[in-house]
Amino acid sequence: MSNYLNLAIRQASKSQCRFKVGAVLTKGGRIMGHACNHRRNLPSTDFRHATFHAEEVLIRRIRMSRGSVIHVARVNRAGSPLLARPCLRCQQTLAASGVVRAYYTTGSGSGLLRFGRDAASAGIASHSVLFDEC
Ligand SMILES: [Zn+2]
Repeated sequence: MSNYLNLAIRQASKSQCRFKVGAVLTKGGRIMGHACNHRRNLPSTDFRHATFHAEEVLIRRIRMSRGSVIHVARVNRAGSPLLARPCLRCQQTLAASGVVRAYYTTGSGSGLLRFGRDAASAGIASHSVLFDEC
């Protein structure tokens, strides 16, 4: 597990959502920012607890994301890492923002997605939507 993914795990553990997700954006080895997912609406007034995904929060905040790498982690209540592959919507947002790679936690280690030019040489793996709500 990389130091950045460990930092993403720390961010994820701060999340108030049922699915605790955190993300760290790096560029040239420098940390550009970090975030966890947030509730989009109040659980007391809305049955569907929609969330801003950690990746979205980060991309909105950081404008210089071209050429950067994102590290995404999800943890359970005990703080152990779970699969955090970015959902299709976030993958599209990340690719459009110029993020070249996404490292993410899995139950047993880490995974990698490539976007843009990076992906053209490596080939993007099949997509799946994993966590679209909190
Ligand atoms: Zn997402």
